[in-house]
Amino acid sequence: MSKSINFFWFRRDLRLKDNAGLYHALIAGKPVQCLFIFDTDILDKLEDKKDRRITFIHLQLEKLNEELKNVGASLLVKHGKPLEIWKELFIKNSVESVFTNQDYEPYARKRDQEIQKLLESRNVSFKTFKDQIIFEKSEIVKEDGTPYTVFTPYMKKWRTSVNKECFRYFPSEKHLSNTFKSKFQPIVTIQEIGFEKTVTDFPPATPSLSIIKEYEKQRDFPFIEGTSRMSVHLRFGTISIRQLMNTAWELSEKWVNELIWREFYSMILWHFPHVTESAFRKKYDSLPWIKDEKNFALWCKGQTGFPIVDAGMRQLNETGFMHNRVRMITSMFLSKYLLVNWQWGEAYFAKKLLDYELSSNNGGWQWSAGTGVDAAPYFRIFSMEEQTKRFDPEHKYIKKWVKEFGTPTYPAPIIDYGMARKRCLEFFKRNLISG
Ligand code: FAD
Repeated sequence: MSKSINFFWFRRDLRLKDNAGLYHALIAGKPVQCLFIFDTDILDKLEDKKDRRITFIHLQLEKLNEELKNVGASLLVKHGKPLEIWKELFIKNSVESVFTNQDYEPYARKRDQEIQKLLESRNVSFKTFKDQIIFEKSEIVKEDGTPYTVFTPYMKKWRTSVNKECFRYFPSEKHLSNTFKSKFQPIVTIQEIGFEKTVTDFPPATPSLSIIKEYEKQRDFPFIEGTSRMSVHLRFGTISIRQLMNTAWELSEKWVNELIWREFYSMILWHFPHVTESAFRKKYDSLPWIKDEKNFALWCKGQTGFPIVDAGMRQLNETGFMHNRVRMITSMFLSKYLLVNWQWGEAYFAKKLLDYELSSNNGGWQWSAGTGVDAAPYFRIFSMEEQTKRFDPEHKYIKKWVKEFGTPTYPAPIIDYGMARKRCLEFFKRNLISG
């Protein structure tokens, strides 16, 4: 008996347009049932039941379902452990292949290996496609086949390797008539999966061309809307990286470089998954960070008495976003001024950032703490005063987020800069050089 359907499994590629895996599923010759799984292995770890990311994903799934309704199909949304869900789906359906886009994070790799085993045991093929990045895995490596650990040579190799074919458009949306036709079903509600709806003022999924054109001049000033705000859309695949590259290629070399940083960190995570648990450089693991819970809590709340740090943390707490320059400042403050383990900060950002991406967040934190690939050396310690003078000279950003700035209610600095700087240099010297 011939098998009746194929599945397309959405994960972090929540769009019908220019979706590589979906395109291949739709042209494979069988009706395609689209699926999304709210994975309890991931959801159970989220402490905040008002997590903005769940609202973002849910909204996007509702949108996908409405779009599928127009072609007489319906999105199947399940809630549970992926392995169990797939076992259940195989009882009810005769499936030839499961199509999906490659996911590179350690958890996803392990999950997919388990699913692949299950599929093989049922004689179902598992077809994965590159979609969320331009170059994956070992596509950009050194001449001797080993991975790059410094950005600039990686970026140069990336640029000489890229061609038009890499930005190819996959017109998945033109083949939606090949979806499996079924009665329309609304998706589960946010409450049914144990969460609550949050505000929905997410940035639009189309980049502003004028911002990209002016990017190089404006990107470092947190009081200006000078960056694209594409990060959340890249995280959840609500925009295609190929489409973005096509748009930006001629407009801003600098902006394209930022997208290459994203690929660089993704490549690092693929080749060096130990970075999720420890420092990239092994010897940095022995650093005796201070377990200063009190100062850590003040940092989290934006109560350090360093206005640029507090503004950043409050922006993060209130909106789920923080400007890149300020991410560098706040992370360096925690790791080098307070000498608190950068992993505490990494975990806090992971909880709060709408655009949280394991590879970029880990890369950013290890850069600031000086423990990672191509990192700021330990003796580079931003002066908060200098940073403020250069990037927020009129305190516009600070005043936006720290309402009591300049009043007696604003806290005094929790640490002295001169002392912190000296202590940091000694900390690294003592433990790395003589250690
Ligand atoms: P733009 O400046 O418009 O850049 C365009 C895109 O390029 C971004 O959307 C992003 O996908 C990519 N990009 C830009 N800068 C970087 C970078 N330094 N590293 C990797 N990719 C980059 N980015 C995340 O997407 N998720 C994170 O969890 C994350 N955590 C970070 C933690 C720290 C400590 C630091 C220093 C940086 C972190 N970044 C992270 C990188 C960067 O801050 C954000 O990508 C950027 O602020 C998002 O805003 P935007 O979309 O307007 O970026």
